[in-house]
Amino acid sequence: MLRTTRLMVVLWLLMAGLIWGQEHGTFTVGTAKAARGQKAVGVLEVPAGVDEGTPIPVVVVHGSRPGPVLALVSGSHGTEYASIIAVEKLITKLDPREVSGTVILLPLVNLASFEQKVPHLNPVDKKSMNRFYPGKKDGTQTDRASYWITKEVVEPSDYLIDYHGGDLDENLRPYSYWVKTGNEKLDAKTHDMVLAFGLDHIIITTDRPQDPAASRFLDNTAITRGKAALAVEAGYAGTVDPTDVRALVEGTLNVMRYLKMLPGPAPFVEHPVWFEKIVTVSSDQTGIFYPTVQRGSYVATGMKIGCVTDFANQKEYEVRASAAGVITYICAVPSMNKGDTVANIGVVAAESR
Ligand SMILES: [Zn+2]
Repeated sequence: MLRTTRLMVVLWLLMAGLIWGQEHGTFTVGTAKAARGQKAVGVLEVPAGVDEGTPIPVVVVHGSRPGPVLALVSGSHGTEYASIIAVEKLITKLDPREVSGTVILLPLVNLASFEQKVPHLNPVDKKSMNRFYPGKKDGTQTDRASYWITKEVVEPSDYLIDYHGGDLDENLRPYSYWVKTGNEKLDAKTHDMVLAFGLDHIIITTDRPQDPAASRFLDNTAITRGKAALAVEAGYAGTVDPTDVRALVEGTLNVMRYLKMLPGPAPFVEHPVWFEKIVTVSSDQTGIFYPTVQRGSYVATGMKIGCVTDFANQKEYEVRASAAGVITYICAVPSMNKGDTVANIGVVAAESR
C-alpha cells in the first residue's frame, strides 16, 4: 500500500514537473533567454574567424501560452531601413502575455552595413548576407553569420519571415515572394501566409535550390528544412516611409493571427497581382541615369523607362522595357555602370492563383 502511494507520488511529481517545464520552460537564442510570458534581449555572437566577429542583436518573445515558433529576420541588407524599423517596432509591440508560442526577432543582421551605410553587401567580406546560406562555420563573416542563424534561428523555428526593401539605390514598390516547391502541403501554407501578410503584389518563385546544403537564401533555408517561410519587401532609397513600415508591421501581426499566435481574425488580401517571373533590365552604358517611369508603373514591351547620358551630357542612350508588366523597382540614383540593374519588371501571371 505504502509502496503504491510512494509510486503514485513519484509519478505525480514527474507529471507536475513535465507540465511545469512546458509552462515555465525557457527559450534561448544566443544570450537572450526568456521564461514563459517574458521578453528577453541579447545577442547572437558570431565569433571571430578568418576575419572579425560580429554581434547580431536578438530578442525572444516567449508567449505565456504554448504554440509555434516564428522567426522574424531583418537587415541582412543593413540600409533597407523601412524593413529594419518595422522589426524594431515589432519588438516593442509584441506582448508575451498575448502571444501563443514564441517569436525570435533579429532586427539587424548586417550591423557593419548599417553602421557604414553600405548597400547590398557586408563591407567586412563584400558578400550579400542573403546569398550564402546555410553558411559555413569556418568561412568569412557572412558565411559564419549565416551558419549561426541557420543553427540558432532557422532550425528551432516552425515559420520564418525575411524582411527586405528597396536598398539605397532602389525605388521599389512593396511585394512579397511565394516560393513554390512542389510540396503541396508546404506550398498551401506559404500561399496562405503571403495572402495573410497582405502585400498586394506577389512574385511566384519556382527556381530556388532544393538542396538544404545549398539553400542560398534565408527563406529558402527554412523552406528546404520543411518550414513555411516567406520574404517581404517594402521601403525604398533610404526612406522610412510610415506606409511601408505599417504594411510590414500589420502584415506580420496578421500572419501571427493566421498562425493562431495572436487572437482575432486574419483576413487575406483579395485579388493580388501575381507575377510569374521577374525580368531584369540592365544598362549597356556607364553614365548618368534619368528614370522616366515610377516604381509601380505598368509598362509595355519597348516602352522607354529612362535614359543614360555620358558625363559631358553630349549623348543620350534610351533604356527600354524588355517585357510588359509592373516596374517592381527602378534605379533611384543617377550613378549608372554598364551592366547595372536599371529596373526589374514583374510579368503578370496569366491566371490568378
Ligand atoms: Zn534586401
